[in-house]
Amino acid sequence: MLVQDIKEAELVLIGIGNEMQVKLQTLKEIPNFSEKLSVLEKEQEKEWLIPFLIRYYLRKELHPEIIRAYKNLRKLIDGKNYFIVSLSTDDLIREIGFKEDRITLPCGTYHVLQCEGNCGGKLFSIDEVFWSKVCGWIEDKVPLKELEEPVCPDCGRPLVVNQYGQPAYHEGGYLESWERYTKWLQGTINKKLCILELGVGMEFPSVIRWPFEKLCFYNRKSSFWRVHSSLYQLSEEIKVRGRSVKEDPLTFLNK
Ligand SMILES: [Zn+2]
Repeated sequence: MLVQDIKEAELVLIGIGNEMQVKLQTLKEIPNFSEKLSVLEKEQEKEWLIPFLIRYYLRKELHPEIIRAYKNLRKLIDGKNYFIVSLSTDDLIREIGFKEDRITLPCGTYHVLQCEGNCGGKLFSIDEVFWSKVCGWIEDKVPLKELEEPVCPDCGRPLVVNQYGQPAYHEGGYLESWERYTKWLQGTINKKLCILELGVGMEFPSVIRWPFEKLCFYNRKSSFWRVHSSLYQLSEEIKVRGRSVKEDPLTFLNK
């Protein structure tokens, strides 16, 4: 049992993949979201607003299944020495009370901005006045034409969300936490380690899947859990210590 493996482990490593992430499809089921989205898609010079529209609708109360899964996960690892690597960009994990210094988000976030050209390698927080206008537009209180794209104070290019996929993705947003993570990993050698993969498919396999398997292979005291609705298979090398669960992680954690 997973509960048992976690209980017996000295350290717990968790990888979170896109089965735990809020899907664009889910957002499109919200009438106001899809209405606003189609407005932006039609008015091309306002397309830059799409990530901000998404950010607005990522608010936690709209995604109870994911929030509940995270809360259950937190209960599961309560009191443990853990580290979480997440490929998700929805940032819902930050709302649950996991230790901030035990999370790394290599794919970035909707909550921090960078220069589109990453001219000075800087990160920018979202301006409050700008954000309240965005909210006003989404809530039909501010006309669209009043919204102006935020620009880089250094070079005048647009400010965009600090996320993987940007042509000049500024990785500085997560590198510090990534260093903490690699240091933490060094401390797992010869320790009883429980590795848990939740909904991690083959997106960026070199970030979670492959290194996690390698870790399990070399650490003979480890246990390994792979939970995924379709990509749940384990490689030969880790089958001895591994369990595979053919289920999406939300169902798995919310049982
Ligand atoms: Zn710039």
